Amino acid sequence: MSQRSRFEPAAPSRGRFVNTGNGPTLVPIDIGHDTYIGLVDPDTAFWSLTRKDALADTLADETFLSACREKAGAFAEEMDALRFGLGLSAVYINPTERCNLNCTYCYIPESMRRGGGQMTEAELFRSLEILHGYFDGKMPEGRLPQVIFHGAEPLMCRQIIYKAIERYSDRFRFGVQTNGTLLDAEGAALLRETGTSVGLSLDAPVAGIADRTRKSWMGDSVFEKTLEAMRLLKGYGSYSVICTVTSENMAHLSSLVDFFHEQEVPTTMLNMVRCTMPNARSIKPADEAVFPCFEAAIRRTHELYRQTGRKLVVANFANILISIIAPSARRLMCDISPCGGGRVFFALAPDGSMYPCSEFIGLPEFCGGNLFEDEIDKVLESAPFRRVTGRRVEAIEPCAGCAVRHFCGAPCPAEANEMRGGLDRPGAFCEFYEEQVRLALRLIADGVADDFLWDGWDKDTETVFDADRL
Ligand code: SF4
Ligand code: SF4
Repeated sequence: MSQRSRFEPAAPSRGRFVNTGNGPTLVPIDIGHDTYIGLVDPDTAFWSLTRKDALADTLADETFLSACREKAGAFAEEMDALRFGLGLSAVYINPTERCNLNCTYCYIPESMRRGGGQMTEAELFRSLEILHGYFDGKMPEGRLPQVIFHGAEPLMCRQIIYKAIERYSDRFRFGVQTNGTLLDAEGAALLRETGTSVGLSLDAPVAGIADRTRKSWMGDSVFEKTLEAMRLLKGYGSYSVICTVTSENMAHLSSLVDFFHEQEVPTTMLNMVRCTMPNARSIKPADEAVFPCFEAAIRRTHELYRQTGRKLVVANFANILISIIAPSARRLMCDISPCGGGRVFFALAPDGSMYPCSEFIGLPEFCGGNLFEDEIDKVLESAPFRRVTGRRVEAIEPCAGCAVRHFCGAPCPAEANEMRGGLDRPGAFCEFYEEQVRLALRLIADGVADDFLWDGWDKDTETVFDADRL
């Protein structure tokens, strides 16, 4: 005799209506376009554009809603894989804490940059051996793990870095993020020959403005030296120049774009200043003031492309476009939540200390262990790392109710912790990121998004963390 359950079977709605019962969730968002409005499912990042004058019809259109229902599962899975399923594939090695410059916004404490520790050749090689042992057999077929030599200024110990690149280039894809002032012709030739990606830093097209934030300890200009490094790398496809956007240079972003294009720079980043350290906050631009400058610069790259047929890709903006068009093809890891820090990559300090990201170096409570003493997997699961990898945008206010939260990610945890007083807070910018997504959707609505992306960006849509958070 069968026994009847005392529970009634669930009787879910058939999901025929938008935003109720089991119906798809679609939040209309004003993208500032004359004709189109956006519709976004905040949980899955499923999106659509619809004509403003057809919004009511679209939301009641059974064919459209059934397509949304069908795709929701796949979108949710894709987003989940991106947020929680990626393994470690890159390491930022900071071989030295020292730097020959004293930039206003640097996240490395001054005492470290003046006289901090530095790896010996043996220590650097040992690090690479340990990392090689860890990654061996773990990477997908045909892919090498990435090692990016990162700041303070890695070329302070360039001899050991160059040796490491020569010796290990069959085991890692290398990158170097440098201020460029210590790069000479021989070094540039080696980086080019070994296919090492190189990121330089320059904040303005003229010395008078660039010098406001990037200068030597004596206050001298390094503008000409950076230009010399750009000349040495001219024609090399794997090089980019990062501009840190501050209140000091935001009015000059469009002329900087002109300058980079003229210099044949293939890729740039126009990164909002990270406000992790108090000095950086003193030159933080207001969101509402900086966004129009940023949009003008983005649109200027388009004009230049149309005029010359040659692109200058703004990588951080391209990443936002890609996060909308093909989420799993994102290359950078700051605008996803949890961010890539501590899960897709980690940062290694000269003494072997491991941090979720270079942005945390200088914040000892975020050290998860030591490469020379601890197992990497254990460090990835350590309490300091889990604090960062457990940060979720839907647990942050006002991000929890924000429809573009999976295109923004509420960066950056280090910045939020230091500037706002906790990891569960948004970072320094909110309206800027909100506007950036609206701009991306406007360009998609205008059918010109491809013009802002790398040629062939969609050939390999496998998720790849690319060096260039840099
Ligand atoms: S959001 Fe901050 S901590 Fe995360 S990867 Fe970007 S810089 Fe690093
Ligand atoms: S920081 Fe602002 S734009 Fe980004 S997810 Fe949070 S509320 Fe949205």
